[in-house]
Amino acid sequence: MKDKKRRFKPESLMMSYGYNPAWSEGAIKCPIFQTSTFVFESAEDGKAFFEVAYGKRDQEPNEKLGLIYSRLNNPDLEILENRLCLWDGADQAAVFESGMSAISTVFLEFLRPGDLLVHSSPVYGGTDHLIHHLLRDFGIDSIGFSTQDTEKDLIQAIQATGKADRLKLIYVETPANPTNALFDLEMARRVADHFSTPDRQVVLTVDNTYMGPLWQHPLKLGADLVLYSATKYIAGHSDLIAGAVLGKAQYMERIRALRTFLGNMAGPWTGWLMMRSLETLKIRMERQGQNAQIIADYLNQHPAVEKVYYPGLLDETTPRQRDIFERHCEGPGAMISFDIKGGEKEAFAFLNHLELIKLAVSLGSTESLAEHPATMTHAGVDEADRIRHGITDKLIRLSIGVEDPHDLISDISRALAKASESYVLEASGS
Ligand SMILES: *Cc1c(COP(=O)(O)O)cnc(C)c1O
Repeated sequence: MKDKKRRFKPESLMMSYGYNPAWSEGAIKCPIFQTSTFVFESAEDGKAFFEVAYGKRDQEPNEKLGLIYSRLNNPDLEILENRLCLWDGADQAAVFESGMSAISTVFLEFLRPGDLLVHSSPVYGGTDHLIHHLLRDFGIDSIGFSTQDTEKDLIQAIQATGKADRLKLIYVETPANPTNALFDLEMARRVADHFSTPDRQVVLTVDNTYMGPLWQHPLKLGADLVLYSATKYIAGHSDLIAGAVLGKAQYMERIRALRTFLGNMAGPWTGWLMMRSLETLKIRMERQGQNAQIIADYLNQHPAVEKVYYPGLLDETTPRQRDIFERHCEGPGAMISFDIKGGEKEAFAFLNHLELIKLAVSLGSTESLAEHPATMTHAGVDEADRIRHGITDKLIRLSIGVEDPHDLISDISRALAKASESYVLEASGS
């Protein structure tokens, strides 16, 4: 038998992939290339690098290209991007200075005035704002669809806009922030194909921040592009802001080109920190997921809790959601939302009495966080939409970290007890 080379798992490659210590005096870790520009060995080299960078000609098969300028390329970003590709099976990646800059770059690349954008609803508050304000002001129309809409409903809704021939982008965030509602990406792929023509491909883009890059791989489910707020699980320590877009080469070339001209790439220091984070991505996320399941089970039987929204608790009462979960997800995630019995008053009493869990927005980090979507992350969402999607005054969102799960339960248990007392103890409000 021929010795077949084993393909290493991404977690085995995060410490070394794409970096050669010989480039940097044998340093085992990739240094921070804190430099704006790179010296060409000759004017001919400089000319050759720019010819390829500006698309004047293709790279020759054995041609080695050098670095030019850190807005176009930088070793920390390139090595980071190559490592990110391994988790999602992407051809290429591009990292950005924030999740919002990744999202806005995708919108600006694929949409023009008069075009139609179809998006899942609800979406992250910043994305919602971009769609309903900036894009609208540029004359780009949008329609949202909910997790209840079937394939037929969605096709009909797109046709009813009268702009089906201007559909350019389907944008899906799943699970949705903050409700954990799951959307069917295979269905979204079929709808994108239904409206595509040979000269107008409808691009399917997925915001995978809530599950990725460990628990859901949208490119394998038919997406063209997957994007992240890398601020969340990828960076994972609540100490930086970054974003990423990954996917098929034909679309990534365009995204990378626009990034060069918008100048919204991440800096080398952020790139270096993210490489450090990727080394522990899997063990962090696994522990977070295990903790979250324990906490969701605890909340689910607690008398002060009305309902828990967590993919790890889906049962036969919601067969479509469970079917999507089984087809799409390799784990239930570490984001839990729940309705507390009562309303804003009880929700605030709970949040104000947490000690170990911090009251802050953001998610996916090593420390556990809690927040109130209706008045915080989703305060800017149209009120009718907010209520329709279940983002009510009694909804609390938790991001579960790597702490001891029983310490977290003890903190939650105390705060829930205080919230239940709040009618009595805090009758005049706190
Ligand atoms: C946080 C977040 C964003 C925005 O990312 P930033 O890094 O804060 O710019 C986008 N989508 C989702 C789902 C998020 O949670």
